[in-house]
Amino acid sequence: MKETLRILVVDNNEVDRMAVRRALTQAGVCIELSEVTDGSDALATLRTTIYDCVFLDHRLPDQDGLALIQRLRAAEIKVPLVVLTAQRDEQVAVELMKAGATDYLSKSRVCPETLAQVLRHAMRVHHAETQTALANQRLRESNEQLLRQNQELEQQRQQIELQNFKLLEASRLKSHFLATMSHELRTPMNAIIGFSQILLRPKFGQLTHQQTDMVERILNNGKNLLMLLNEVLDFSKLEGGRLELKPELFDLTKIINIVVAQMRSLAEAKKLSLRVDIDMQQPLVFNDSVRVRQILINLLSNAIKFTESGCIWVEVKELPKNQLAIAVRDTGIGIAPKDFKHIFEAFRQVDQSMTRKYPGTGLGLAIIDSLVQMMGGKIILESQLGVGSMFKIEVPRQLSLPTAVGSLAAYNLDGHDIFCSVQNPHHSPSKSSTAAMGFPKFKL
Ligand code: ADP
Repeated sequence: MKETLRILVVDNNEVDRMAVRRALTQAGVCIELSEVTDGSDALATLRTTIYDCVFLDHRLPDQDGLALIQRLRAAEIKVPLVVLTAQRDEQVAVELMKAGATDYLSKSRVCPETLAQVLRHAMRVHHAETQTALANQRLRESNEQLLRQNQELEQQRQQIELQNFKLLEASRLKSHFLATMSHELRTPMNAIIGFSQILLRPKFGQLTHQQTDMVERILNNGKNLLMLLNEVLDFSKLEGGRLELKPELFDLTKIINIVVAQMRSLAEAKKLSLRVDIDMQQPLVFNDSVRVRQILINLLSNAIKFTESGCIWVEVKELPKNQLAIAVRDTGIGIAPKDFKHIFEAFRQVDQSMTRKYPGTGLGLAIIDSLVQMMGGKIILESQLGVGSMFKIEVPRQLSLPTAVGSLAAYNLDGHDIFCSVQNPHHSPSKSSTAAMGFPKFKL
């Protein structure tokens, strides 16, 4: 079934209106035709009724077609408008089209075929225009939405940046606070340690057993506290990038033997045997002796702390490519593989409870990790729960100097001139996991 088109003819000339009606009917177009005779009626009708097309006389009694088209378009009335002109005037046609007419036709050309063709064309153009307007509208809307989302994203970015800045500031303040506090606390602590040591000297008078016991406790606790304070201070310096290695030439075997001798009494107090195995052709190394000592003390005190019975070994040997390995092994409680990674994080302990058996800050391994990284080395951990642990550090025999990058420093070890080029000390070693020596293994 053919679609019935609603057509409005606006013309005060009845003959012309009839010509349109007849032409459309003869062309076989199924129409429902309405007629008005002036511009005001056309405007009023088009405000309330929807038409498929309007045929509009260019010359109306109350206004010309151009003015009416402008009014209709200004009122947002969207309908195909075909203007019927009296004569073929291209200039008039251009004006009409500019004002919003869909098409125009000279009245002299009104005949069934032409009028039907103009009607179809006007409706097609109008449909295309409507679709384009709709697509444009959607485009505008999605554009606006994108703009809004962009603005929101920008706001979020700014907020994150601000939060980042605040976090950095808070972290800086925390490091500063830690550094100041531990530094300030060290002075009275040194006095406590110093004076308790003096009190224990016989030349300052004989103390009773009970007094000696009490002063010794003050001294030991003071030393423990000082160690904790030093750990916090070191950690805050490392965090703030303010800790520098001070390399020097020294005999590694001497340092190892001194540290082991210092720690022996602690091991013996727990009835643990402490063995040392140093296999070095060349004991001289170029490194920060204070930090190497600190690493060894930390590893040894952990081994003693976490071992209830058995043995602790310190093994030192030379590796290919001018590397050294220092390992501390124990027969202690061991570490589960799932904890391997975490124990190297600051303030992390396997037992995080307040009632934990073993005291400590949880900073020792974090500090060792950072120091070894600064030395350009790596840590290897092998451990098995209930069996024991081995922490091994592998570092270059000669430390690269943290001075001008690219410069060369020369040292004489074992009668040979040795050159070492300066690299970035803050390299991050690769992490992997193996289980070659019975224990689960972890390389940092
Ligand atoms: P702290 O000893 O002060 O707790 P560390 O950073 O030195 O801190 O060690 C972190 C954690 O790693 C320890 O709390 C412990 O759980 C585990 N750990 C370190 N060394 C050993 C070891 N030799 N045997 C078993 N566990 C260890």
